[in-house]
Amino acid sequence: MPRAKNPDKYKTLPCTECGAKCCRYVAIEIDTPKTKKQYDDVRWYLLHENISVFVDHDNNWHIEFKTRCRSLADDHRCIEYDTRPQVCRDHGWPIGSCEFFDSPYKLRFDSVEAFERHMDKTGKNWRYKRRPKTTKD
Ligand code: SF4
Ligand code: SF4
Repeated sequence: MPRAKNPDKYKTLPCTECGAKCCRYVAIEIDTPKTKKQYDDVRWYLLHENISVFVDHDNNWHIEFKTRCRSLADDHRCIEYDTRPQVCRDHGWPIGSCEFFDSPYKLRFDSVEAFERHMDKTGKNWRYKRRPKTTKD
């Protein structure tokens, strides 16, 4: 698949041109959901505001928190540049590997409805069934 932008024309990371896309979220890898409990957990994540779940091009699942870094200045520069975390130093290298150049999403769910529609299309029996309440509950 051709890249949205050609990395060959960049000698350094185009962070100013990008507008600091990678400083506006936190993404954590999660277990690939395989059980009804895990599918239900994904529904739970997506019921919260500013949460998305996505699958990357290596089929790894992630939860994403849409939240702007406190160290991002209005001109898209990092005010912690010299002491920024290692994950920030590594992100984008080699040039062409970050989201400025290509979408990192193979699948992305921004709502519980979108996730449920996707799961229904898979034909899997994925919905979590609660046990009926008893007098002991
Ligand atoms: S590393 Fe990539 S995504 Fe992050 S600000 Fe720079 S160009 Fe944008
Ligand atoms: S510490 Fe700096 S480079 Fe890292 S996310 Fe925050 S603004 Fe971006």
